[in-house]
Amino acid sequence: MNYFFIPLIFLMGIMIIIICVLYIQREETPENDDQEDLEEWTCPDCGFAVQLGTECPFCYTKKPT
Ligand SMILES: [Zn+2]
Repeated sequence: MNYFFIPLIFLMGIMIIIICVLYIQREETPENDDQEDLEEWTCPDCGFAVQLGTECPFCYTKKPT
């Protein structure tokens, strides 16, 4: 009768390990590390208002610091 519970406990153990791994991976990834990426900035080269990212999509100029 106890043999029925062995694969059940085994599967539960695997699920707990997967949940732990996902939780650790989420903890290691900071959500808002670079908030500057979300700010609008004007390209000094072509004057384009870049909405996203730190590089101009037209002339590939990096965002000035
Ligand atoms: Zn530009």
